[in-house]
Amino acid sequence: MTSANSSTLPPKLVDPFARTIDYLRVSVTDRCDFRCTYCMAENMAFLPKKDLLTLEELDRLCTVFVEKGVKKLRLTGGEPLVRKNIMHLVRQLSRHLASGALEELTLTTNGSQLTRFAPELVDCGVKRINISIDTLDADKFHAITRWGNLSKVLEGIDAAQAAGLHVKLNAVALKGFNDKEMPELMRWAHGRGADLTVIETMPLGEIDEDRTDQYMPLSLLRAQLEEQFTLTDIPYKTGGPARYVEVAETGGRLGFITPMTHNFCESCNRVRLTCTGTLYMCLGQEDAADLRAPLRASEGNELLSRAIDEAIGRKPKGHDFVIDRRTNRPSVSRHMSVTGG
Ligand code: SAM
Repeated sequence: MTSANSSTLPPKLVDPFARTIDYLRVSVTDRCDFRCTYCMAENMAFLPKKDLLTLEELDRLCTVFVEKGVKKLRLTGGEPLVRKNIMHLVRQLSRHLASGALEELTLTTNGSQLTRFAPELVDCGVKRINISIDTLDADKFHAITRWGNLSKVLEGIDAAQAAGLHVKLNAVALKGFNDKEMPELMRWAHGRGADLTVIETMPLGEIDEDRTDQYMPLSLLRAQLEEQFTLTDIPYKTGGPARYVEVAETGGRLGFITPMTHNFCESCNRVRLTCTGTLYMCLGQEDAADLRAPLRASEGNELLSRAIDEAIGRKPKGHDFVIDRRTNRPSVSRHMSVTGG
């Protein structure tokens, strides 16, 4: 359902629950140079290359969303920076920053390619990025990412900050893996001027282990941190689902993303596009809209625009994740790398 598209009012995508959708996350590839154990199986079957949208098609799709009122674009994946010629897409999209149509162009990355790309990202108008890092212990880092190298990621974080990017660090809280390390990770992040956001693990896609063993409710993590730190809730927002506290002892901000213990669907402002042109209106539901067919059906954007309106008109009220031993399968069959984290 599109709301006012008259000449006086700016275009807007509004869903059936009166939520304005102004944030698009785009998974530019489902491939990744890491194999984080909670995210993927080691032997993942990736989407066939022939099914992928070209960078030009991704640009066209994103542009239609911007014309329909999207103000914030986040490139993610898989690992967005391993998509071939990704900077071409970033450069193209940056024209919407220059025109003022887009307020923010940003990325979520594992940091492995940032020594190469950070300066160019800044040159394209990217101001903030999220970098995922679950531990500062090199052996544990290798164990959780299977293929990752901690020092390369640390160099990537250095390069991003040196280039002038505002860095937010993301860590998935995993029971028995990094919960005890959180004070150290937080002090380290805050010590280098970066916010840290912790995320509850979600039941997305088959992995090689039982998620029940890893799941750590953030209410518990917060209680553990409060034994050592003074946490004060603050109204700070970055357009995403994190709720923030200020940490008196470090002077930094800590965000909590709690899709399991407290879902934040009532304020959801986003939809997610995959690299094959499928639009998911909710991370935690199976319903989707194919935008590739209308994109390829004609050179004009009318069909595409109509397909987007229809999809937004079906955006569900929310998700309902369950992790417990009786529900021994993922709530949603696709992996986070497909939908885009
Ligand atoms: N490769 C990039 C990265 O590492 O940030 C972007 C894609 S990754 C899928 C985005 C984020 O999703 C990462 O912070 C990752 O830790 C998180 N993630 C992946 N699978 C998850 C799951 N099942 N539950 C919660 N977070 C997950």
